Amino acid sequence: MWSKIKQLAIPVSVKLTILYAAILFCILLLTSTLTVAGLYYMLYNQVNDDISASINRVNQYLVAGKPLDQNMLETNLLAPNVILKVSDQQNRLLIDSAPAVGNRTDLSEEMDEDYRIMKFIPLKKPFLTIVRMNRNYYFLTNQVVQQGGGTYQLHFLRPIAEEVHFIKDLIKSLFVTNALGLFVAIVSGIFISLRILRPIRKITETAKEIEINQLGKRFEVTDSNDELQELARTFNHMLNRIQTGFEQQRRFVADASHELRTPVTVISGYVDILDRWGKEDPAALQEGISAIKSEATNIHELIEKLLFLARADQSKQVINKVTVAMESLIADIIQETRLIAPGHKIELPLNDAATIHGDPTYIKEMLRIFIDNSIKYTPEGGTIRITSQRVDHHLDITIQDTGIGIPEEDQPKVFNRFYRVDKSRSKATGGTGLGLSIARWIADQHNSTIRLSSSPGEGTTITVRIPLIDHP
Ligand code: ATP
Ligand code: MG
Repeated sequence: MWSKIKQLAIPVSVKLTILYAAILFCILLLTSTLTVAGLYYMLYNQVNDDISASINRVNQYLVAGKPLDQNMLETNLLAPNVILKVSDQQNRLLIDSAPAVGNRTDLSEEMDEDYRIMKFIPLKKPFLTIVRMNRNYYFLTNQVVQQGGGTYQLHFLRPIAEEVHFIKDLIKSLFVTNALGLFVAIVSGIFISLRILRPIRKITETAKEIEINQLGKRFEVTDSNDELQELARTFNHMLNRIQTGFEQQRRFVADASHELRTPVTVISGYVDILDRWGKEDPAALQEGISAIKSEATNIHELIEKLLFLARADQSKQVINKVTVAMESLIADIIQETRLIAPGHKIELPLNDAATIHGDPTYIKEMLRIFIDNSIKYTPEGGTIRITSQRVDHHLDITIQDTGIGIPEEDQPKVFNRFYRVDKSRSKATGGTGLGLSIARWIADQHNSTIRLSSSPGEGTTITVRIPLIDHP
């Protein structure tokens, strides 16, 4: 039944009401049936007791040798309500404790409502039967006795009209109260479930209003602590995340286009110059070619970094982690740094032997990003000191420079994509602002943390803390 209800296109509130009304109906039906059945049983027992007690007393009376005559009616042998009629073999009525009851009439199925009710009494036939005497119903038990050479029929009768009427009234009132109860249950069920489910309708309405351009809308949350409020809160958190992600994406695309526009503008400017004067003027030609070359390199670098971050965002960046001996990796980097930055003093006062679990290409890339920044933002003659030190279960790699430093208010932002302290890219140092965000991504992939401390004019220190695998 439940699967059929589920398939119908009806509101949940009505479905719930139907279900609960059906359950209530079954309970009411069961309790009513049990009540009526119990009553029938009690009635039967009562009548049976009355008749059995009367039969016992009459039998004792007769066994005592007392005669079967009208006198026996005076001696309180019969239980109140029980009638005794005695007839002989010729069916002549000899004794009658209640002549007014009249004669037996026919019983037939379609008789009346009383009979239909009595039909369900659990009679022990043939000991007890139901008879009708002058429109009234009785339980009847027949006994045959022999006395003085004659055979007599003893008919014990017990009227049951009162009990039958009681059961009839009870059935009627049970029917009315059950119907009323069911009606109240359905009406209140619809009302209550509509009320309970109101927040779901609100959630649906709000959800319809939320568009990709209007992610600021939120579901209403009341202070009740139920599942629906939990649902609304969860949706709101989900929307927060979607909105943040969407805005980041939008900013990223806008920033990327902006960054690409600058070198493209420079290139087309030089192409114009070359077009006008370059053919005759070898100096202008050379300058133009150099500038275009440098801008093309910038574009290339930018695109490489953008592609890296795009792959990282989509979790498509492949990382092959192996056991990496950091001592030699750092020595390699120092050697290459000394080659590319001959104007800076590159120091390596401490390089502890340590192994980590990571992708050496990415680890190198991350350290290069930090060292590249130190070179870029430290004037020639400055010092860049790299130390690699085991601390507990970690390896702390510190890159310290004596460069221009980062103002305090910019320090939390330098890891954001495209963030540069000095916004102008025309300067020789101007990078894309993507280096540190790539470094942070690599650190995250290696369960590592990055700490930055810097004071403008004095220098910057970056410490990466990487978990070791060979700690004793
Ligand atoms: P890219 O590395 O992509 O070529 P970038 O160096 O400008 O460009 P990040 O490496 O992300 O970008 O650095 C962000 C900003 O943080 C830099 O623009 C710079 O202003 C500042 N910064 C980073 N490292 C240092 C440093 N060692 N000294 C001073 N400023 C720094
Ligand atoms: Mg950089």
